Amino acid sequence: MQTTEGIVVRRHLGHYLVIIDGKQWDCAISSLLRKQLEYPEASPGSRRRRVQRVRRVRITDPVVIGDRVTIDRGDDWTGMIRAVLPRRNKVSRKASGSSRKEQLLAANIDRVIPIFAVADPIPDWNLLDRMLAIAEWQDLPVTICINKMDLEREPIRDITSIYERVGYRVIFTSTETDVGKDEFRQLLREGTALFVGPSGAGKSSLLNWLQPGLALRTAEVSHVRGGGRHTTTHLELISLDGGGLVGDIPGVKEFRLWNIKPEDTPKLFREFAGYLGGCQFSDCSHVHEPDCAIKNAVQTGHISHLRYESYLRVRKDP
Ligand code: GDP
Ligand code: ZN
Repeated sequence: MQTTEGIVVRRHLGHYLVIIDGKQWDCAISSLLRKQLEYPEASPGSRRRRVQRVRRVRITDPVVIGDRVTIDRGDDWTGMIRAVLPRRNKVSRKASGSSRKEQLLAANIDRVIPIFAVADPIPDWNLLDRMLAIAEWQDLPVTICINKMDLEREPIRDITSIYERVGYRVIFTSTETDVGKDEFRQLLREGTALFVGPSGAGKSSLLNWLQPGLALRTAEVSHVRGGGRHTTTHLELISLDGGGLVGDIPGVKEFRLWNIKPEDTPKLFREFAGYLGGCQFSDCSHVHEPDCAIKNAVQTGHISHLRYESYLRVRKDP
């Protein structure tokens, strides 16, 4: 029997690379699928007025890496994508530029791995909190990786323990001294993992460390098309010898949350959960109100200042 279900691992200039039973198929997408590019969605403007007006949105691409698809097989390892199977989850962000559309980055992800370096570049903890918020929103498991442990001068665990205390797993690595190698390999053993982290944190080095010769190839290309700048993200999932697929999200500096209202943001900080509902005002924003359970918890040290500062920033500008 022919297997026709596979996973999209690469998208480039209208071509999709689909893996079926370990073999790569060069696929196009059917015109029928292209016609389904329009789907109804509440317009962002209407949300503010609390009217769910529906407009038709044109998404530029119906297929994304990580998608499970069915294909019709052709000759010479070519095929036609007929359908996209329902997504378990998706990772998307607000596209940069004025259009502010949803930019779908990947689907069916098993684990998000934020990667930061101890130094060079120094960690931007607010950026990490933003990544964690995106993962919470989609209910994606997270493991934080702190790389370049050989450069540690002051105890990094003073800060990473804040994350461990609220339930995030943190692993520590160095591609220079081989710290954490087994743990890192174990992490990527199965399923689809997505690296997110600033450039220079060591994402490519970590992959080459596990499997010499592997390198992440990601780039963001901006080009001008009628009406404004568009950013095309070239994303690829790489198959590891030990099983598992890995991708890298480029351009993380522009990580803006997609479709998240300020009122949704307290839920994205998991240590807030036990305090929500304990404020004097039921619609407390936890920013300026008196008798706020979250602010009290920050005062008493039950919620970290660092995370609360991040909350304020994410709330102001999701
Ligand atoms: P990427 O942009 O996240 O893919 O980062 P790269 O893998 O290109 O690494 C950026 C720089 O950090 C390179 O010069 C690497 O050699 C260096 N690097 C990567 N991992 C480590 C590490 O564990 N320790 C040290 N000291 N340098 C590292
Ligand atoms: Zn409050």
